Amino acid sequence: MKICGNKPIRRIMIRALLIMALLWGAAGPGWGTGPLPDASGQPYSAPYSTSAVFSKNNAPAGLKQEDRTGAAAAAPAPAAKRAVLAQRSAPSQAPGVSAVPEVKNTALSATESGSAPEQKSPKMVYLTFDDGPSAITPKVLDILREQKIKATFFVLGEQARTRPELINALWEQGHAIGNHTYNHNYSDLYSGFTRFWTQIKQTEEVLREITGSRPQLVRAPGGTYGHFDAAYFSLMKQAGYTVMDWTVDSGDSRRRGVPAADIVRDSLEGLGDSEVILLLHDGGGHEESVKALPEIIRRYKAAGYSFGVLDNSVRQVVFRVSSSAEKLQRAQPPAAWVAANIVPNAALFASGKPLVLEVGLQEARLEAGEYLVEQGRYLVPLRAVIERLGGDVSWDAATRSGRVVWNGRSLTADAQNRRFTATLKAGTGKEGFRKEGAGEVRAADIRLIGSTLWVPLRELLEMSGHPLRQAGVTAEERRVKAL
Ligand SMILES: [Zn+2]
Repeated sequence: MKICGNKPIRRIMIRALLIMALLWGAAGPGWGTGPLPDASGQPYSAPYSTSAVFSKNNAPAGLKQEDRTGAAAAAPAPAAKRAVLAQRSAPSQAPGVSAVPEVKNTALSATESGSAPEQKSPKMVYLTFDDGPSAITPKVLDILREQKIKATFFVLGEQARTRPELINALWEQGHAIGNHTYNHNYSDLYSGFTRFWTQIKQTEEVLREITGSRPQLVRAPGGTYGHFDAAYFSLMKQAGYTVMDWTVDSGDSRRRGVPAADIVRDSLEGLGDSEVILLLHDGGGHEESVKALPEIIRRYKAAGYSFGVLDNSVRQVVFRVSSSAEKLQRAQPPAAWVAANIVPNAALFASGKPLVLEVGLQEARLEAGEYLVEQGRYLVPLRAVIERLGGDVSWDAATRSGRVVWNGRSLTADAQNRRFTATLKAGTGKEGFRKEGAGEVRAADIRLIGSTLWVPLRELLEMSGHPLRQAGVTAEERRVKAL
């Protein structure tokens, strides 16, 4: 820090500034005056390198798709390794502007002038790995662990399903997980939005079962360019997802077996940018990417970059809509389909408290958006709750009812007649032998919304032999205890 010199008075001033800065930080979120934490518990703020200039993907809801795609967008030439960005944060730019202007880094100049000696490097690189997990993922994880850095993995549902232990390993090491669709099949994914959507939800469910969390980040196979039209972009946004392309392509999937040296060379094209989202692959056959990785990390570290994971606070990077994608003239999903699928989906990512159910020794957690509160009553999705509590649910389409088998009891939730019916087992009681049959019947507000059966929580618990004992709300969660 050559700017500081070694005058004692200068040091004292700097220390005083640091202490003030620390106090200022402490007085932030903890004292209730700072930004509200987002769903991940982190303060919802942008990296300071860009916060002054770019709004993030929590841009005003009124910002329309055309604002983002119509303005600061230029097509990345197919052969170009560096992507030209379109982003929703520059609606004021006139159409035809070819790229977003570079951000001049104010934090860096402050450091240079000597007023903020402990300012950490504002340059960020986000390593992203697509198409895994595969046999090479553990090697990538080893390198990242050795280097003490985190990355973002855009995984395929198909791969995650067969290798859940690798998803767990990613999760436990603190890497971010994004959704890269189920099978990466372009002809299916880009034949129409509902096909793309099906694969996103399929993968999301696989990941939720493994980690308990839904990824909000999505990367389109092959990138959005040439694939996404305005409807794909707007429906994904409306559903609560953050689509992310990249700023630098390592070139490791240009063909099979691209040599490590070429991957390193192309990956370093981002050096000099204040923010780099680097595309790499950890799918099967990408051994050369693993070989290249330590050198890529070494060079970015040497250039003063910090390594981050993608989340909602990072400036969104997406390519613009290409004319070829618009010309595909794919069928648009009907309004009723959008109302049933897209509109309610955003609630899954709404910040709010989770609902924790404590039933005997079992516990299940529903994230904000996975349950409803109506007039002080909880409505919950039957299958999700029962399965997370260790029971089974089967669906009878003919009677529009769900049959629950849980902790040795069975009951039916009937959406048509809006009632629960307990099933009595065959056996010998005081009155002698009886056959299996209907037991207690109780009217309940059971609803079929889309393909999900929603039931009132209290009645569900009582009818399955777990009467409610306590319900409360803390700063972190809502909690219901039952016997
Ligand atoms: Zn891919």
